[in-house]
Amino acid sequence: MARDALASLRAGCSFASLSAGFYTRVAPRPLRNPRLLHASPDAAALIGLDAEALQTPAFLALCSGDGRLADIAPLATVYSGHQFGVWAGQLGDGRAHLLGDVRTPGGTWEIQLKGSGRTPYSRMGDGWAVLRSSVREYLASEAMAGLGIPTTRALALVASDDPVMRESAETAAVVTRLAPSFVRFGHFEHWGHSHHEQKALLEHVIALGYPECRERAAGRMDPAATACRLLTEVSRRTAHLMARWLLAGFCHGVMNTDNMSILGLTLDYGPYGFMDAFQANHICNHSDTAGRYAWNAQPAVARWNLYRLAGSLMVLGCEAPALETCLASFEAEFLAAYRAGLARKLGLDAWQPEDAALEDDWWALLHVQRADFTLAFRRLAEADQDAGAWLALFPDPAPARAWLDRYLVRRTGQGGDAPARRAAMLRANPLYVLRNHLAQRAIEAAQRHDATEIDHLLTVLRDPYTERPGFEFYARPPAADARAVPVSCSS
Ligand code: AMP
Ligand code: MG
Repeated sequence: MARDALASLRAGCSFASLSAGFYTRVAPRPLRNPRLLHASPDAAALIGLDAEALQTPAFLALCSGDGRLADIAPLATVYSGHQFGVWAGQLGDGRAHLLGDVRTPGGTWEIQLKGSGRTPYSRMGDGWAVLRSSVREYLASEAMAGLGIPTTRALALVASDDPVMRESAETAAVVTRLAPSFVRFGHFEHWGHSHHEQKALLEHVIALGYPECRERAAGRMDPAATACRLLTEVSRRTAHLMARWLLAGFCHGVMNTDNMSILGLTLDYGPYGFMDAFQANHICNHSDTAGRYAWNAQPAVARWNLYRLAGSLMVLGCEAPALETCLASFEAEFLAAYRAGLARKLGLDAWQPEDAALEDDWWALLHVQRADFTLAFRRLAEADQDAGAWLALFPDPAPARAWLDRYLVRRTGQGGDAPARRAAMLRANPLYVLRNHLAQRAIEAAQRHDATEIDHLLTVLRDPYTERPGFEFYARPPAADARAVPVSCSS
């Protein structure tokens, strides 16, 4: 590919066609002496960039805040939101810049920098992002994609020596993110009292992601009817996302409405966590003292957030009962997706009502014994032949053995080809997940300018279902005596 691969992208900026109140044109603050720590070839391929293009000075300039996509002026968007259940008023891209979007045969991708300097929406913030949180966002984005979970993507991670003050002195980095849209529930909440702008935002979102939801009356979009259909579809996607998160042992950590994607993507990776030892009410964010965003609270919180989104649509003429109807199927959608996913993970052909007792006892077993979430599922695939490896995950093997016997009766009772079932289970249960202690090693290496750990992690996480000889370390839970890595909102 030519050195001017970036120049040949079909670039535009569809968000900028919204009126001026939706955003402010503002230039990123370029990192000084930027170093490309890592770039994701998988994410790059989405916008048609090959490995060679990622090594060019133009790419580094773009991803460090010093370049432009075509001649598009970058912008920061305004949104509002509920944080920890409380209306927080106006927020917005306080340290993110939209560079524009790239149209590809596979769809349109917005390119956004995070950590790229102050904007009119920075409030008290400095506009920076530290290397630590940027490595975590970069890795998590690509890890979720590897798991097949809807997510924003990470194209590049650029580091610098620019100092940033948090609890202690750290250094700055910029993550370049890709998504078909970064519109959040919070964008709709922001315009919840402005019919004209809400209608324009609705048009924008329908055009980019939900064309099938457009309802017409007298040849024009019917805003209220369209908004209801959109809400139904966002609710469905969000319910499915919650099922995927739970079944991956993933906690988002800060499910504020401004961190909820209107496209049903996982968005804004901060103090997230993939569980090691299972605890149903696990809280991954040390700042979340009340456990509002605990692992098992996430579906209910998502529903609460959908109600905030619904409320913002009333300005379009939607009636409350109609909006309630749109959200009424959330629980059933979630349960259906969750049960189908759990059945796949357990190697069951289909979920039967009688499986509920087996399920309850499964979670109780894992919870009481604090068994490793990922390996407990993964090793079940082979537990009919090698129960020992699976049982070794439980400090008290007797109740585990009792559960396994019941489970194997259920699994073999459905008949079918055992090797095919085993293979299907290995495709449903990852061996590698982005455990906190692994992310921490990658961060510490990155702080020494060493990206090999990031590279190793992405090697396993881009296809976490396939066992790789030589990468055994990346499948292991943290050592029993390892100190837990505290993660908080500090980023
Ligand atoms: P978050 O908790 O990361 O979802 O951020 C909530 C809000 O605070 C968003 O409007 C962010 O843009 C803003 N924000 C977070 N960190 C910073 C920062 N260092 N500088 C400016 N704004 C920030
Ligand atoms: Mg956020």
